[in-house]
Amino acid sequence: MRSSEALERRELINPPRIGVTAALREETELRAGNPLVRFVRTDLEYVKSVSEAGGVPVVIPPSVSLRAAEALLDGLDGLLLSGGPDLDPGYYGEGPIPELGTTIPTWDALEMTLLRLALKRQMPIFGICRGMQILNVALGGTLYQDMPSQLGAHVLNHWQVTPKCQSTHKVEVLDDSYLAKVTDRQTVEVNSYHHQGIKCLGDALTVAARSADGVIEEFESRDFSERWLMGVQWHPEGMRDIGSGHRNLFEAHVCAAERHVLRSAAA
Ligand code: MN
Repeated sequence: MRSSEALERRELINPPRIGVTAALREETELRAGNPLVRFVRTDLEYVKSVSEAGGVPVVIPPSVSLRAAEALLDGLDGLLLSGGPDLDPGYYGEGPIPELGTTIPTWDALEMTLLRLALKRQMPIFGICRGMQILNVALGGTLYQDMPSQLGAHVLNHWQVTPKCQSTHKVEVLDDSYLAKVTDRQTVEVNSYHHQGIKCLGDALTVAARSADGVIEEFESRDFSERWLMGVQWHPEGMRDIGSGHRNLFEAHVCAAERHVLRSAAA
């Protein structure tokens, strides 16, 4: 970790609580006579990534009311939006194209609600893959519904079939960006499991990393003194053991959540 200052802070306050959004998964095989079983599910790697970075992971189920979402956020210091299925393009004013994948309306609605509330509270938000995409849309940006059909043949293969711990392409990191500082890298090897991508960037964001085909692979706050926002198109939770750069993203988020606690307490 970066400094003794961060360690000292950790002794003074409780570890920050990071909400991790979870998906709804439906299984149709018979289980004990039930025709349809529905699970709340999130990848354990997100939860472990937050814990290892010094935060307390709090898994958020995909179906809660607006009132419950507000109450939930009262007990959180940061938000991590996890990966998952495609976002309903209606949120950025488009109808679905044939290549759009499955969408889950209840999950979209909950994450949008949480995001809008968390943005209003200036809570540090870290979006991963789908999480990055929905964060962009919540800030007024748009997406490619399907990069292979909308961007053409020059696009790299962003849908790997190998495990999350293996990289599939590189991203070039902009000098002087927050990402460059956090990862201490000019190039990061990343995994890739997305057929959608960022088209127009949302407000208050700037791009700090792209793949060789120009696809936006990371964005971050234009002004971190205003608020801490970061989105990555890859899955750093699956690459923590490969390089410190990936682990550092979670640590930076947890540290930002700690500062948010201190700021809120002082206000
Ligand atoms: Mn990619």
